[in-house]
Amino acid sequence: MKHEAKAPMIDLRSDTVTQPSSAMRAAMAAADVGDDVYGEDPTVTRLEQTLAKMLGKPAALFVPSGTQSNLLALLTHCGRGDEYIVGQEAHTYRFEGGGAAVLGGIQPQPLTCEADGTLDLDLVQSNIKPDDFHFAKTRLLCLENTISGRVLPLDYIKAARNLCDKTGLQLHLDGARFFNAIVEQNLEPEVLAASFNSVSVCLSKGLGAPVGSVLVGEIKFINQARRWRKMVGGGMRQAGIIAAGGLYALEHNIKRLATDHQHAVRIATALREKFGDISIRQATNMVHLDIDMDVYRQLAAHLENADIRVGRPRWVFHLDVAPGDVDLIESQISTFTR
Ligand SMILES: *Cc1c(COP(=O)(O)O)cnc(C)c1O
Repeated sequence: MKHEAKAPMIDLRSDTVTQPSSAMRAAMAAADVGDDVYGEDPTVTRLEQTLAKMLGKPAALFVPSGTQSNLLALLTHCGRGDEYIVGQEAHTYRFEGGGAAVLGGIQPQPLTCEADGTLDLDLVQSNIKPDDFHFAKTRLLCLENTISGRVLPLDYIKAARNLCDKTGLQLHLDGARFFNAIVEQNLEPEVLAASFNSVSVCLSKGLGAPVGSVLVGEIKFINQARRWRKMVGGGMRQAGIIAAGGLYALEHNIKRLATDHQHAVRIATALREKFGDISIRQATNMVHLDIDMDVYRQLAAHLENADIRVGRPRWVFHLDVAPGDVDLIESQISTFTR
């Protein structure tokens, strides 16, 4: 029986579209499992312990999605009437259905991001509400790394940590693409995680697992998050089947993210030759095209003819885009005429 993905097209819409490889599927099929709500799934436990250790934190929690992971973090750090400060374009503010507000009574304080994806820390500080019953209580600063592919500088993260220490805030990282940042900066995971009280990592983006995210943090924090996970329906039973895909991804698919970044650089170079420097922005595994939308639609149709699928003008490279695929994309870009 052969399970290898027969992807009919080269798909650059997202790094969520990856297919689990045969070897990953074999690891999943062979996983030891138990009822994880009873704490009896050895593979889930091993995944949680592995990621906690990698990130230098005492505990971790396996969850079905990155959205749920961030939600549990927000519900645990903040209570009803509390507030979190977050980027206007951050996933935890913009793309998670307002979950923290809907389910937790938690108010977001969104702030405009700088061009490099950071939040101006003076602006953050000036948005921390005074201790006065007119205001929500500011509890948490929420960062995202990578953010639209961009890596946050480590000095900036340390400065954010200092601000949180000074002002009594907690600091959460939406690290859906945590390992893209690690590989790009050549850092140890625990060095990047050290500044944060909690980190959410996606296994189902560039790491190539089919399902799952992991939330890491202190023991008390993770115990409370586990309670919330049960409440929102994220307590899974023989989840070791999917956790095994995550473990396989951590063992095999971290270092290779550098290849995705190199592929993005190659395609950005080809696009710049076509459209000019200022309209193309590459960061880690993503390429953003700031070109006329009519021209973009023509380009997308031209690529579609060569079985290359793109969505919005943000192209994402991942483990199902092979070097030969990049050759093809390059040549299709070079033959494009509007
Ligand atoms: C994809 C993503 C998430 C959420 O992950 P899902 O598993 O799709 O819910 C959170 N944050 C960022 C930055 C993401 O890219």
